[in-house]
Amino acid sequence: MPEIPEIETVCTHLRDSVLNSPITGITINRAKCLNIASESFISLVSGQSISAVGRRAKIILLTLSNHHTITIHFMLEGYVQLLKSDDPDLSHASVALCLSTDKTLAFFKINLGYIHLFPTTDWRTIDDVSNIGPEPLSEDFTASHFLALLRTRKGMIKPLLMDQKLIAGIGNVYSNEVLFCSRILPTRKVKEMTDEELSHIYHCLRSILNQAIYRGGVYDRKYSRSDTLTGGYVPYLKVAYRTDGPCYECGLPIQTQRVGGRNAFYCSNCQH
Ligand SMILES: [Zn+2]
Repeated sequence: MPEIPEIETVCTHLRDSVLNSPITGITINRAKCLNIASESFISLVSGQSISAVGRRAKIILLTLSNHHTITIHFMLEGYVQLLKSDDPDLSHASVALCLSTDKTLAFFKINLGYIHLFPTTDWRTIDDVSNIGPEPLSEDFTASHFLALLRTRKGMIKPLLMDQKLIAGIGNVYSNEVLFCSRILPTRKVKEMTDEELSHIYHCLRSILNQAIYRGGVYDRKYSRSDTLTGGYVPYLKVAYRTDGPCYECGLPIQTQRVGGRNAFYCSNCQH
């Protein structure tokens, strides 16, 4: 599932390619992913343009020129591509927005995810984003804020880092990477950790997310033919999906174990 760096990478592409281009046609092949009737979605979105692109947690926010907001969540397998308007792949899109530029913004595999439309530009009031924890890269998210949040919980550190109600936008890939950077085992209980250890996690979290955004994240779905950014962070992953590969610090094999219902990847020699 895409996390903050992957969604930020998509937002960068969207800002570079679709802002202020009128939406001249809409195809909906999967009405189930919408929160309103297809006819209403088409009539409210047709003729509008995307005036701003934002992100909250793992959700893309498209502000429309008629002061509506589209929220998009990819969940496990969704992705978006900018295709030529006669591309044969468009027949497989869940939802496609044809633009005046002869390009089509196509959303694929929005099966578990969604594309919702709301009559507001104040996305803070939208249900989809109202119950999510703070953004880990926001300026006011300090180390002391992070410590205070985690001190309200008792469980293992890895599931807590992935808890969207506690902190926004972190999933399985970056929780593993952050804990390797912090030299902390994914199964460690927060209440048994020192402030210094939690502070170390905070600094690794901000550093790794920023590096991964800079390098284009780890998603394997390119946005367009000219996309050289997406997936650029894959060679920099140290533990995620590297089971049995050598630890880059000590050479022992990376291990995997189910933690909180997800695969944790870690080095049992480097992490404690
Ligand atoms: Zn190691």
